[in-house]
Amino acid sequence: MNRPPLEVADIVRAQGNRFIENNRHWIHALHCKVLRAIAHCRTAALGGHRDQCPRCGHSAISYNSCRNRHCPKCQNGARDKWLAARQHELLAVPYVHVVFTLPHQLSQLILQNKSKRRMITILTTNSRVHLFRRWTRLGGSNKSLRRRRIGW
Ligand SMILES: [Zn+2]
Repeated sequence: MNRPPLEVADIVRAQGNRFIENNRHWIHALHCKVLRAIAHCRTAALGGHRDQCPRCGHSAISYNSCRNRHCPKCQNGARDKWLAARQHELLAVPYVHVVFTLPHQLSQLILQNKSKRRMITILTTNSRVHLFRRWTRLGGSNKSLRRRRIGW
């Protein structure tokens, strides 16, 4: 498998410590642990093992992975499997992907209150879906919604 020219791990290795130092006011030990895992994943820092082909005898050294659930290298395979499994669950109907955003003023509050973030997201999403349903029942359409620039 070819390595992409730049990986998240490269960025974390290059700027991770600086990022942590500049954001000490909100970064927790768990965040640092994730960054360390990403930086060390599949490097000599986590050790390695020798794989050998039973037919030809060719061998190669592979570095161990971090298995952190936030690591993009470790989760690529899991994500692909999850997506493939979800494909079988989809109904043969058109789907609409809807993205809700929160006001920028809430960004720091949400980042610092991870447990409350889910509740805020659910509450705002439910209220916006309700507003959208009312809007469409009253004769509004996606097109007129966009034209009137009602923020979602
Ligand atoms: Zn990893």
